[in-house]
Amino acid sequence: MGLIFVVNCGSSSLKFTLINPEDGKTVANGLAERLGTPEAVVNIRQPVRLEFQVPNATHGDALDKILSHIDGDIVGVGHRIVHGGEYFTESVLVDDKVVELIGSASDLAPLHNPAHVMGIEAARKKFPDLPHVVVFDTAFHQSMPKRAYLYALPYAMYTNEKVRKYGFHGTSHRYVAGEAAKLMGKPLEDLHLITMHLGNGSSTCAIREGKSYDTSMGLTPLEGLIMGTRSGDVDANLHEYLTRRTGCTLSEVTAMVNRESGLLGISGLSNDMRTLAEAAASGHQRAALAIDMFCFRLAKHILGMSASLDRIDALIFTGGIGENSAIVREKTLSYLSLLRPQVDSELNNQHGRPANGRITTGDSPVLALVVPTNEELVIARETARFVPALAS
Ligand code: ADP
Repeated sequence: MGLIFVVNCGSSSLKFTLINPEDGKTVANGLAERLGTPEAVVNIRQPVRLEFQVPNATHGDALDKILSHIDGDIVGVGHRIVHGGEYFTESVLVDDKVVELIGSASDLAPLHNPAHVMGIEAARKKFPDLPHVVVFDTAFHQSMPKRAYLYALPYAMYTNEKVRKYGFHGTSHRYVAGEAAKLMGKPLEDLHLITMHLGNGSSTCAIREGKSYDTSMGLTPLEGLIMGTRSGDVDANLHEYLTRRTGCTLSEVTAMVNRESGLLGISGLSNDMRTLAEAAASGHQRAALAIDMFCFRLAKHILGMSASLDRIDALIFTGGIGENSAIVREKTLSYLSLLRPQVDSELNNQHGRPANGRITTGDSPVLALVVPTNEELVIARETARFVPALAS
């Protein structure tokens, strides 16, 4: 049985999943962290838990370690890539030109793309004879119309500097839309949907007949919703104001809005929704405020997404928060009273499991669903399309 090795490289990390693209079963998975430092470590979670200290290991060393401890007939390698710029509208087979183009989008994703290039190069050395496929977070959103993806800046900022909304989490939005269509028993091409990927990073997407028409993230994954440590939307004059007021540099303000803001910044407690929900339940007011702001901003963006649709056939919650937090779903829907959602609390508390994901009542004017995402599976299936023995 042919397996796909799915890799997601950060600058000092490497997440991997060995997956059967046909039945979606995960055979092995794990994570290497703090690569390039004396504390580098490889953690294998499945099939058995193993931990190795690998001081100063590179991405290549981590791959060697991982591959010497997992078994399976690997027939292709899928790479998750954050930013494809405007070059890539779908997944492609890796060659030198593709690697060069991913590298050239590094200005747009300086934390991610150079790391992806490093990961691809290490994996190509390790598996020179296998097909390597790159799957982009941005690709699904390349169908957005100009009115949705342009910023109202001088047009030359788009033509010369590539400033536009790219959008992210495309793999997840696309997957849950497809799964929702199956659960609803309707062709995706007939549906108008709003998907919400709510994890450490969060975004919404308007999906019309299977295509992305608008999304909340922008040039970078900072725009839009309130996230774990990211502020989401702020006034673009904020940077100048804060540099003048506090003496912080531009990069310090950028670090603040990316790493010290969002749920963490408001609550002063944590970026983790589960921790905040527990704290709010025991009376922590700023944890409660952070959750309230998160849900209100999300509701605002959902209505914004609706400008791209003729109707809303379903609102779809996914990601760690979307799949697991009944409170966030209920509160968000309560801010959408204009759409008159009728939440079924029993189903919502069970994350929709008894009713094919449905968390609203049978006669609710708007349908809300919980649909678990599986980005690794999408990457594995995209990769399998390029493996002659698996392609159907
Ligand atoms: P990432 O974006 O890193 O993939 P995830 O999709 O795993 O993140 O989502 C992580 C978020 O999901 C965290 O805020 C975490 O607290 C939240 N989460 C996970 N389980 C629960 C739960 N049972 N209740 C509330 N939030 C949860």
